[in-house]
Amino acid sequence: MQIRFWGTRGSLPVAPQAQTIADKVADALVAAEGKSFADKSAAREFIDNELAFSVGQTYGGATSCVEIDVGEGAFVICDMGSGVRELGLDTIRRFSDGSRPKEWHFFMSHLHWDHIMGFPFFVPAFMDGAKIVIHAGHSDAEKALRRQQEEISFPVPFDWLKADIEFRTLETGREYEIGAVTVSLVEQDHSHDSYGYRFKDAQGKVAVYSTDAEYKVERSDIFSEMTNFIKDADLVVCDTMYSLADSVSMKEDWGHSSNIVAVDLCHEAGAKRLALFHHEPTYSDADIQRMHEETIRYEELTREDAALEVVCAYDGLCVDV
Ligand SMILES: [Zn+2]
Ligand SMILES: [Zn+2]
Repeated sequence: MQIRFWGTRGSLPVAPQAQTIADKVADALVAAEGKSFADKSAAREFIDNELAFSVGQTYGGATSCVEIDVGEGAFVICDMGSGVRELGLDTIRRFSDGSRPKEWHFFMSHLHWDHIMGFPFFVPAFMDGAKIVIHAGHSDAEKALRRQQEEISFPVPFDWLKADIEFRTLETGREYEIGAVTVSLVEQDHSHDSYGYRFKDAQGKVAVYSTDAEYKVERSDIFSEMTNFIKDADLVVCDTMYSLADSVSMKEDWGHSSNIVAVDLCHEAGAKRLALFHHEPTYSDADIQRMHEETIRYEELTREDAALEVVCAYDGLCVDV
């Protein structure tokens, strides 16, 4: 199973300003110390191996969209933030050789705007013969998607979409076989609720997608329910929007979690890998990289058993599970 991150930013899509790119280029030139490069691939090697990620690259700015790819059958996607536009185009390229059906299954964490805003730009929805199934813990998913395409907000009404679109409301405490994966869900603490999803492939590999959820160690009931849900997962994609300082001071009860709580949860559950996700839109690439480094240090200091690998999700990252 491969997990592909198409959108990793929380709340609002962001794009770097000209000045930000100029600063990255200036930092890269300073770091190169007058080196010369024979060709572009030599320069790329320098960027990949010697520059800090936040200097040579970017975490990106599209909002939540993560693909769970088992390499066969229907496409499985968590959320339809602005990253779903690119995913739509990429999946069209992938089914064009006939190896995959024209079928997409979405699993919705919740219906806040940053998680649904990409759907009006999801090209397969405009295609004859496409089948789209939207799974949600919320029974009002259809209402939310129709509403964002009402004339006052968007020029193309939902009913004009040519794909066959079906909504399914899922229940917690059950397992669903959908295509090549087994899926279950859990209710999470967030405004209007949110749901986390656990995906298991035929080889028994497990990936958990848990975003827009506020975990607090002092709420031991929620903490232990979530620990059970992510037990022994190979990868946990987790809402780590705020640094701990932010999450316990001014942003408590804003419905998001910190990198620290995410590590505690994964340690408790014996998870193997954590992906930091739903990055705060005001954080720069350097801020996010610093948070990643601090999370790795915190994991090392608090580790009691096996190591938990901490990766930091960025738009375009692929993780093999
Ligand atoms: Zn969100
Ligand atoms: Zn939300």
